[in-house]
Amino acid sequence: MIRSALRCVVASVLAWCATAGAQFYEGARLIPGDGSPAIESAVFVVEGGLITRVGKRGEFVASEGMVRVDLSGKTVMPTLISTHVHPGFQKGLTYGAGNYTREVILNDLNLALYYGVGVVMSQGIERGDLAIQMRDEQIAGKLGGALLLVAGRGIGAPNAGPGAMAYKGIAYEVTTEEQIRQAVREQAARKVNAIKIWVDDRGGRAPSLSPELYAAAVDEAKKHNLRVSAHVFYHRDAVGLAAAKVDSFAHLVRDAVMDESLLVSVIRNRLFVMPNMGGGERNTHTSTPPWFEEPYLAGLLKDTASPEVIERMKGLWAPRDPAIVERVRGIYRNVHRNTARLKDAGARVILGADTGLPDHLFGYAEQRELELMHSAGMTTMEVIVAATSRGAEYLQLPDTGTLAPGKRADFLVLDANPLDDIRNTRRIARTFIKGVEIDRAVLKNKIIK
Ligand SMILES: [Zn+2]
Repeated sequence: MIRSALRCVVASVLAWCATAGAQFYEGARLIPGDGSPAIESAVFVVEGGLITRVGKRGEFVASEGMVRVDLSGKTVMPTLISTHVHPGFQKGLTYGAGNYTREVILNDLNLALYYGVGVVMSQGIERGDLAIQMRDEQIAGKLGGALLLVAGRGIGAPNAGPGAMAYKGIAYEVTTEEQIRQAVREQAARKVNAIKIWVDDRGGRAPSLSPELYAAAVDEAKKHNLRVSAHVFYHRDAVGLAAAKVDSFAHLVRDAVMDESLLVSVIRNRLFVMPNMGGGERNTHTSTPPWFEEPYLAGLLKDTASPEVIERMKGLWAPRDPAIVERVRGIYRNVHRNTARLKDAGARVILGADTGLPDHLFGYAEQRELELMHSAGMTTMEVIVAATSRGAEYLQLPDTGTLAPGKRADFLVLDANPLDDIRNTRRIARTFIKGVEIDRAVLKNKIIK
């Protein structure tokens, strides 16, 4: 008893203390993340890293010994869950396979967390065992940053996997059913979190993965209890993939507006869809777009990227070939439209941003993506659900993504309400993972710019 009392005296200065006793948080607006209405003036209790009680102020009071934390005027929501990332390629101004190191992957995870992202799913451009090792170390509590899930080595037809030079030689290149089944078995043996496939002809550069082969991948993955995530571009492939019962589209249909029967198929087969709007949207501009100057986003960028990287990001909007801009805008119109159609149809849209492409930085890309999902017609509440509970459902993480009794205390404390303006998710005052506050100043200092 005395010993524990002494511990609690030291409690206010030691981080471990946050897990030792219970905390009573009071006064914030609480957005549960499951789509249910925000609780104004909420109270909640965190004990041992878990939320044990949630209610309105007055419904229950702090028990003796609880540490009381006043969050009046703040908004609390779950940390973000990002389902489509590629860590380990960008370090400052450089981008490439040579950056695929523990240091750079961890930097990406730290970046994500700084922007409020608690979980990221790497979608299949992972060389060797490094990402898998890091995931396991993280589960053992040895690394910081956003929680990493991995798809290991993804699978495509020859020359039709991930596009850029930096990714060369990483994906399986398969031409037979036995090869694709073997690839899935190998990845299952490495205990990946999902199987990633690419179904795309890469602008006519290569024949895409055939329906027979991707159906075999889905069949094999199900035997190992693994979900299949499919990169898609063409409407015709999306029709086949939905019928083959893949679990998610890792992109939207981009060559056309989705027709009614495809939408019905997406709903019926309960697919999750990651819009990945931001990577394409940034290429539709010919001068610096207003969103780049939004103060809170710009502030976070300044915290996490060097002036040289920021200058280069701006350079994207220098005068460009009008024919290319026109083409990109056409594709983006389809992306925008298809996000709206999926939302209207009630599809399971989740936050995915293809984060980790060149200058499409961890955390930054996610914050931008939320704004774009909203601009496509999703309500602020729908965007928050997509970025929290629905992402957790997709990743089969039942203990996070929602703020409710029994869930992990993974939450953001915001200075303003994202239901009023989705960009308020950038106004992060405090971040808690498993009930322990992350020191954001320390995290910021760790980031390699
Ligand atoms: Zn991707």
